[in-house]
Amino acid sequence: MSSSAAGNSGDAETFAFQAEIAQLMSLIINTFYSNKEIFLRELVSNSSDALDKIRYQALTEPSELDSGKELFIKIVPNKADKTLTIIDTGIGMTKADLVNNLGTIAKSGTKSFIEALQAGADISMIGQFGVGFYSAFLVADKVVVTSKNNDDDCHMWESSAGGSFIITAVNDPEVPRGTKIVLYIKEDQAEYLEERRIKEIIKKHSQFIGYPIKDEEAEEKPEEASEEGKVEDVGEDEDADKKDKKKKKIKEKYFEDEELNKTKPIWTRNPDDISNEEYGEFYKSLSNDCEDHLAVKHFSVEGQLEFRALLFVPQRAPFDLFENKKSKNSIKLYLMPEYLNFVKGVVDSEDLPQHFT
Ligand code: ADP
Repeated sequence: MSSSAAGNSGDAETFAFQAEIAQLMSLIINTFYSNKEIFLRELVSNSSDALDKIRYQALTEPSELDSGKELFIKIVPNKADKTLTIIDTGIGMTKADLVNNLGTIAKSGTKSFIEALQAGADISMIGQFGVGFYSAFLVADKVVVTSKNNDDDCHMWESSAGGSFIITAVNDPEVPRGTKIVLYIKEDQAEYLEERRIKEIIKKHSQFIGYPIKDEEAEEKPEEASEEGKVEDVGEDEDADKKDKKKKKIKEKYFEDEELNKTKPIWTRNPDDISNEEYGEFYKSLSNDCEDHLAVKHFSVEGQLEFRALLFVPQRAPFDLFENKKSKNSIKLYLMPEYLNFVKGVVDSEDLPQHFT
């Protein structure tokens, strides 16, 4: 039993949702709530976490990235199929992860969130209770998750709520590693198939996600109207099949691949994706230097506290390098010894309250 385009290579197994999870899902589906757009923030945030995990694993085991080096999130609305697809190249889930994380093991947050909702809490707080995934059912009546972890074959999870979900082994070339979530958008939620609406939501809720969020428009673009005219010109006697083929070709030409969260700070991006020109531009804007930097170091540290750093060494020593300056800052962050005070850069941590960053 499968409705995915992926090759179905295993028997379908049906699982019952753990009771509290089933209850949570029916609350999500049946509670009147208009701010449904938050589902996208939750799914993008899960993708970002999954990308962090594979990036972290690859620090000690670089071969983990043999299944794909590029770390990104892709959002594909498809008006024809009425689906919205979110793909990430994160760590992915094994079959056991799919069964445990998406339906059979309730977290303490599940019950707390149900109670909070019944006491009048806002559904948008769902992420804080660790059950953000289920917000997909705010806008979708069916959700299909295809996931591939390096330690297992690819599996598909699908559910239309109603107390159960199905797991099937599949082959999906679209998911060499990571997770693909296909949302079958409810009839009255068609706004979430609009590219403009998706861009708006990403900008509002996910602009500081540290991985590129790409948008692939799978729909015909308006420019095609004129191209389609040309197809019509081909001649009356040309058979419909040929015309269809031409149309398809034109459609592909207008596929668009765009990054939605471009404005995000350079230090939050993957160093492999940043050109020396981009570093140079950023260095000059940061330092007011008119020359390029001599050297750059861009790294992150993950432990009890996480931070990212982007440090530049200027080409020339500053004129006041050996002048003894009394620090005017009342808060001291001992990141650099004084003799290295010519190093310019940014250190950013999500673990620190905003006024310290
Ligand atoms: P939370 O993310 O707060 O733990 P969720 O309900 O949103 O809670 O997700 C449950 C779990 O499912 C996650 O902890 C994670 O293990 C797994 N998961 C969800 N989405 C993804 C994804 N895109 N890639 C990998 N694992 C995921």
